[in-house]
Amino acid sequence: MITKYKGVHAFVNKSVYALVRDWTGHLQAKKMIMISKYGKRVDEDGRTHILCYEYHACPVCGHTLTVIGIRERKYIKSDGITHILVIRRLRCKDCRVIHHELPDILIPYKRHCAKTVENILADKPDDTSCDDRTIKRIKAWWETCRLYFENVLASLSEKYGVRFPQRPAPREIVRAVVNANLWVHTRSAYLSG
Ligand SMILES: [Zn+2]
Repeated sequence: MITKYKGVHAFVNKSVYALVRDWTGHLQAKKMIMISKYGKRVDEDGRTHILCYEYHACPVCGHTLTVIGIRERKYIKSDGITHILVIRRLRCKDCRVIHHELPDILIPYKRHCAKTVENILADKPDDTSCDDRTIKRIKAWWETCRLYFENVLASLSEKYGVRFPQRPAPREIVRAVVNANLWVHTRSAYLSG
């Protein structure tokens, strides 16, 4: 399955797994699941835990997932303030792939929240706290991926009859691509999930 291994990253079926060694020394492939129905709970340390309210199967093989732990994920809200979310780590009972469960307020591997990205793509940069360079970078990223995203959505509609709104919001597009296990990362240095 793994076609190339170099350092801590490997290309697998054109997508990228972040590979880390677990306590047994084995390489673990990590992927993602995106959820849209969730709640939040603030713990005694002020960290916000994401509580999932939806069922999802492994995007790789369709089998059941079990919770194996949690991890922190930083992100920058539209007001420019960095927040920490606590998200769940899930492992598939069958293929053993580890998935990070991301709420759809995040965009995989992006520091800025989905709302900021959506405002930039809707040409409303004043509603964000981003500098010009960040705005340019986010627009360029979307432009690079747009056609690929459109093709993924078209193929999901054709193959599985998935219905999307006529003009889906960027976060809906991102969620569909991630959950179809077709997310492709475009940079070599990035945030984890
Ligand atoms: Zn699986």
